[in-house]
Amino acid sequence: MARPRFSLKLRLAPLWPVLSAGLVAALLIAVLLPRLLAEYTAERLLTAARTLQKEVASRLNETGQRPLHRWVHEISAESELRITVVRPDGQVIADSARSGSQLEAMDNHAQRPEIQQAAEEGWGWSLRDSSTTLRRYVYVALAVPAKGDQQAFILRVAEPLAELSGARNRLFGILAFAAFAALGVTAGHSWWVDRRLFRPLAELIAGARELADGRYDHRLAAPRAQELAQLSRSLNRLAQSVEEQIDAVADERDHLQAILSSTSEGVMVIDGRGKTALVNPAFRDIFGIEQEATGRYPLEVVRNPEIEGTLNEALERGKAGIRQIEIPPPRPRTVTLAADALDTESGGAVLTARDTTEYTRLTIMRREFVANVSHELKTPLAAIRGYAETLRDGALEEAATAERFVVRILEQCHRLQALLDDLLVLSRLESVEAPFEKRTFEVGHLVDRATEVLRGAADARRVTLHIEPCDAGAARALLRGDEVSLERMLVNLLDNAIKYNHQGGSVHLSYGIDDGAIVFTVQDTGLGIPEESQPRIFERFYRVDKGRSRDAGGTGLGLAIVKHVVQGHDGQIEVDSSVGEGTRFRVTIPRNLDTEDPKADSGAALDGDTA
Ligand code: ADP
Repeated sequence: MARPRFSLKLRLAPLWPVLSAGLVAALLIAVLLPRLLAEYTAERLLTAARTLQKEVASRLNETGQRPLHRWVHEISAESELRITVVRPDGQVIADSARSGSQLEAMDNHAQRPEIQQAAEEGWGWSLRDSSTTLRRYVYVALAVPAKGDQQAFILRVAEPLAELSGARNRLFGILAFAAFAALGVTAGHSWWVDRRLFRPLAELIAGARELADGRYDHRLAAPRAQELAQLSRSLNRLAQSVEEQIDAVADERDHLQAILSSTSEGVMVIDGRGKTALVNPAFRDIFGIEQEATGRYPLEVVRNPEIEGTLNEALERGKAGIRQIEIPPPRPRTVTLAADALDTESGGAVLTARDTTEYTRLTIMRREFVANVSHELKTPLAAIRGYAETLRDGALEEAATAERFVVRILEQCHRLQALLDDLLVLSRLESVEAPFEKRTFEVGHLVDRATEVLRGAADARRVTLHIEPCDAGAARALLRGDEVSLERMLVNLLDNAIKYNHQGGSVHLSYGIDDGAIVFTVQDTGLGIPEESQPRIFERFYRVDKGRSRDAGGTGLGLAIVKHVVQGHDGQIEVDSSVGEGTRFRVTIPRNLDTEDPKADSGAALDGDTA
């Protein structure tokens, strides 16, 4: 984590007050010090002048001017002061900085500020460059009272300023030391502030930046400073709350995603701009979409104007639009579309697509089935009604006719009975709840019972029935299945083989074990089935020759029942036929002995299977 760097200006901020205070102090000292020192020196010089005042006065009276000049030289040598004595008219009469001969050449001092002031007020002082010595001096002048009403002489004492700058330099030295010491202390303080404030602050900022970048699982360390620790705790709480909210939103999104992914209904969501926001796997599957769909217009995703139309209807009219569309080959489908506008701020719509191909097929099938059944019922009912009306209208009187008609009525009743029986069987086989009661039994028994049922019919049509187990053990071979349904299957196949046969023809039923399955073959020498009809004979009510089928008492449902039974036993059926030569049905039923249900029956114990 990169810590942010604070600017030098900010980091040095605590130093500024100290630095400026130091600067102001130094400036004040630089400006005021010379003046203060000059005043102090002036006072000192005044004291010295007062000490010398009497001596000068008495010497002026007693010894005259020349000895005075020598005397000032002596005094000055002891004290290093410059001592000057000026006559009331401004003429210098003694000066420690000049020799006797130079004295004559000195200019009049009456206009010197300190001398003027002393002449007026008794004493005066000034700080200036000496025009005589060209050095900077502090001058103090003191009037020396003269005898009688004579004007006063002026005694002047001066000290060069060089002395002053020395003192000043010492003071500046002390000041500089103090400033460095202050700087040191401030730097230490600054380092402490940096450690306690800037560094933890930088860490907090870096942490906050992590959070801002979306890493909500990041947590900030608590700095030592209490206020910063509070800030860090608040940020952590904020991060946790955001993390929880994001988790909740993510959970909800995953939940929705899971629902959308697992639903068999296709879903397409359109955003407020009319572009695709989402399509689920089912939608992709129904319309065969492979490319990315998000952010594109629906028509770009699915090249079907109906989709656009349904969506527009929902968006413009604000009501749910429903329509059924046909998707052309290679994957022809019937799809029901429903679109509804989304009741959100940004708008948009949701389009659902349901693959109703199977539903439509079943609906058509059911409609056709009802039509077929009605049609099948209509013919015998019309016949019965016809015979009954004829009887009522007088045929009852003629005994022979009446008997013939009653026989016909009975025949039609049998036909109706057969039709209803077949419909009931078919309905049971097609029911969702297990239509088969599977048990283990001997194949030989099944074949015996089926042939028994048809023996009479075969004799009536003079058709010979040959039953041939493929080998000695076949009859005792065990098979697990619904015995009643399987018997019905054999009866239907044999019945057809007899019905659609020639007088004097024959039917061969052979059966045996082949690769874990029982194979039944029903071969006849009958009419045969045209090739184009062969794929359709298993359809309900499909007949090759309607008249012949009805005459023979067929319902058109026999082979549909056979197909259901075979499929219900995971078997297979094949047909091989040529017109005029005969037909062969081959049925393979897996024996399924290993799926034995122990409480089913005791058939397995009889296992004499030698196959
Ligand atoms: P049906 O009750 O009419 O016999 P099925 O479903 O049993 O109905 O048979 C459908 C049609 O298949 C029959 O109408 C008949 O035309 C034809 N068919 C079935 N079995 C044979 C067969 N062994 N020989 C010739 N045609 C047959």
